[in-house]
Amino acid sequence: MSRGHNFSAGPAALPEAVLRQAQAEFLEWDGSGASIMEVSHRGKDFIGVAEAAEADLRELLAIPANYKVLFLQGGATQQFAQIPMNIARRDQRADYVVTGDWSEKAVREGATLARIHVSASSQSTNYTSIPARDGWDLDPNAAYVHYTPNETIRGVEFHDIPDVGDVPLVADMSSTILSRPLDVSRFGLIYAGAQKNIGPSGLVVVIIREDLLARCPKDIPRIFSFAEHAANSSMLNTPNTFGWYLAGLIFKWLKAQGGLAAMEVRNRTKAQTLYDYIDGSGFYRNPVEVSVRSWMNIPFTLPTTELDAPFLRESQQAGLLALKGHKLVGGMRASLYNAVNQDSVDALVCFMKDFARRYG
Ligand code: PMP
Repeated sequence: MSRGHNFSAGPAALPEAVLRQAQAEFLEWDGSGASIMEVSHRGKDFIGVAEAAEADLRELLAIPANYKVLFLQGGATQQFAQIPMNIARRDQRADYVVTGDWSEKAVREGATLARIHVSASSQSTNYTSIPARDGWDLDPNAAYVHYTPNETIRGVEFHDIPDVGDVPLVADMSSTILSRPLDVSRFGLIYAGAQKNIGPSGLVVVIIREDLLARCPKDIPRIFSFAEHAANSSMLNTPNTFGWYLAGLIFKWLKAQGGLAAMEVRNRTKAQTLYDYIDGSGFYRNPVEVSVRSWMNIPFTLPTTELDAPFLRESQQAGLLALKGHKLVGGMRASLYNAVNQDSVDALVCFMKDFARRYG
């Protein structure tokens, strides 16, 4: 077996120790006589797994008691619609800050369900910056303010939580959740697709302040209602039991690593290693404004696009996987989520140096 250094943007690398544990438990979970995917979600075995996962996530993120944690399906994309459906009225304004392709998609989906207003956008910089907070056009009566703390495609990240007064702040944390400690109390709602820092795809975690549940309309299908999911402990229907189980293993792994404070140190160092090399190389280039560069997703270009094919071919041969940039931006992208360790980043930099020497 030969596992490469995996820089995939998502579904992304998972900790090897977790995969090994899942492998060891694959045929029979904890003396139960069956795999965890083969038992009822309403039985005591799975309920135990589900409750432990929630408790560990609450501990990792220090989630206050007045927030519900939901383990849902439909991905972050479904949340683009489910959020306005639940916490905005159709004629009510909801403010969106657009800093990349995922926030654009959130606007497009949300516009079918509420009066979406783009309060600020960094499109004119090709999404390489974040608009200064004092220029945001916010309505104190808006249903909520939505933003994307980390834009996975162009690698732009907020390193502070914006102050939006009393309006609930809603964050798509798909590609940054669990990368560092977070003050959850600053948010009305946080959501994250699992397939980067949480676990396998097919699961989305929603952390919602309880008072917002009162906004969920009674006349929407129950399956879309946060209030119904909360009242039924995310088991309104059959949940993604395997995803939930694996997420639980990841949360335990994170705790054993020293929690999010330890991840913050590791993630900052990993990103700094790569940015320092790129900036000093005179060969590779990252276009993002330095203060808002992502720790999780690092796009970079080579001096000419003709070099992309040999770079991808040779990096793949060297065991460095999934470095191709998103089709919207081209070039390369290295995603450095929690399960990507410093050794992988060092191996990447070593390859990049050698490639630059040979082709420069
Ligand atoms: N938001 C962000 C920031 C993402 O990175 C992604 C997926 N890469 C999505 C939303 C969409 O997630 P999903 O495919 O789970 O719907």
